[in-house]
Parts: sequence; C-alpha cells; structure tokens
Amino acid sequence: MMDYCNVIQSFINYKTSIPRNISGCSIKCPYRRCHDKKFLNPDVVTMHLLHKGFMVEYLCWYAH
Ligand SMILES: [Zn+2]
Repeated sequence: MMDYCNVIQSFINYKTSIPRNISGCSIKCPYRRCHDKKFLNPDVVTMHLLHKGFMVEYLCWYAH
C-alpha cells in the first residue's frame, strides 16, 4: 500500500489538469456515491478516496 497516497495524488493532479473536471478550486469526485458529478474541494475528494476503497472504485471506473 506504499503507493496508495501517490496514486491518489496522481489521480487528483490528473483530474485538476482537465478543465471540464474543475469548477473554481473544486474538482469532480470520482467516488461512486458522488457519481463523478459533485464538485468538491480536492482535499475532500482525497479523503473520500482514501477512506472508501479508492482502488476498487478506480479500477471499476477505469474499466468502463
Ligand atoms: Zn466524493
């Protein structure tokens, strides 16, 4: 799990590099309960991903 935070940070950086994923200083949260639609503070998104099984959700999301 040593790369877990790095992966999330990379993902956040990737998200924030895409204009349509940004609203002000908020970004879309990819966590499924946020449906990749809610614009949240990157810190909040990081927390969601850290606490709610980012890799499973991410792989699922990525596979689609
Ligand atoms: Zn979320």
